[in-house]
Amino acid sequence: MKRPPLNRRLAEFGTTIFAEMSALAVRTGSINLGQGFPDTDGPEEIREAAVRALRDGRGNQYPPGPGVPELRTAITEHQRRRYGLVYDPDTEVLVTAGATEAIAASLLALVEPGDEVIALEPYYDSHAACVAMAGGTRVPVTLRPEGGRFVLDLDELRAAVTDRTRLILLNTPHNPTGTVLTRDELAAVAALAVERDLLVVTDEVYEHLVFDGAEHLPIAAFPGMRERTVTISSAGKTFSFTGWKVGWVTAAPDLTTAVRSAKQYLTYVSAGPFQYAVAEALRLPEAYFDGLRADLRAKRDLLGDGLARAGFEVYRPSGTYFVTADIRPLGEDDGIAFCRALPERCGVVAIPTAVFYDHREQGAPFVRFAFCKRTEVLADAVQRLTAVG
Ligand SMILES: *Cc1c(COP(=O)(O)O)cnc(C)c1O
Repeated sequence: MKRPPLNRRLAEFGTTIFAEMSALAVRTGSINLGQGFPDTDGPEEIREAAVRALRDGRGNQYPPGPGVPELRTAITEHQRRRYGLVYDPDTEVLVTAGATEAIAASLLALVEPGDEVIALEPYYDSHAACVAMAGGTRVPVTLRPEGGRFVLDLDELRAAVTDRTRLILLNTPHNPTGTVLTRDELAAVAALAVERDLLVVTDEVYEHLVFDGAEHLPIAAFPGMRERTVTISSAGKTFSFTGWKVGWVTAAPDLTTAVRSAKQYLTYVSAGPFQYAVAEALRLPEAYFDGLRADLRAKRDLLGDGLARAGFEVYRPSGTYFVTADIRPLGEDDGIAFCRALPERCGVVAIPTAVFYDHREQGAPFVRFAFCKRTEVLADAVQRLTAVG
């Protein structure tokens, strides 16, 4: 029997590049700098907090739909202390199964079939997939390399808005480019959203991973934005517990209610005991966050310097734990072919960022390496990479 395509909306997505490259890493015994997860766990006392919650019988049954009150309160304290954003833990916070579910629920709730969603390109893969699941149309605005950084062209952003635009999907600090949107850039995005009456869904999972004096600013704090912004974050990247899948949304009550209406039919609830542990994690002293950044900054420089020595042009990120490199100085221009061959050539796996572009040609020469790995692993990778030059 010849069936028609089983899923037209998701046909273009297939297997993720991460699955393909991780399988390649295993098959070739390569160092996997493809997928962005740390190879060491987060703080011991937070792991212990999860064990304690589990033993004490907290969260072993369905937690409340919006999340356990302890975590919702900790999230509001975090937003107030860091950004001066005041949210009500009962009506303006929603705990989700990682940022991934928060993204899915937000887009499913807020995007109607035919609506246009403006997304920064290269985009995180689940952003594109969730726009498609919601029946929306993705309108990419390309971040272009300029002066050592991938830059948002504000005129292009403005020109991308039409009468059908429903929302702008932001991501800062930005995966994969490592760009942290500046105050001026965010102010311009905010002014545009207000002028054209757009919603903004902003993925801020790397909010704590910023370097060299870059500052993460939540767009929800800009004038006119609080009531039109859905802010998404997660414990995975901040606390190095990506397997726990605890994420959250903060937004005005009507937006939170809308997102919850979708979320309740996705997972309903998740990660009960871990929610209590993440509540404790959000209250860790500043030394924890400073230490995380200092550690990652040193790793960024170890990998970045190594890539530069191997002959890549390196875009040193201001945030996230990814570095983007241009392969053209090596005499190559096809990142997909390059990444497929790299494991055989030198035993390292990277991700071609072209797969995160609609304008593939714009992303063709760029590859992404993750540096959230142990120092000895990165040193080994850098050593191996000298073979590509
Ligand atoms: C890792 C990542 C996520 C997913 O976060 P989870 O909490 O693991 O679901 C979402 N957005 C971006 C940009 C990411 O890099």
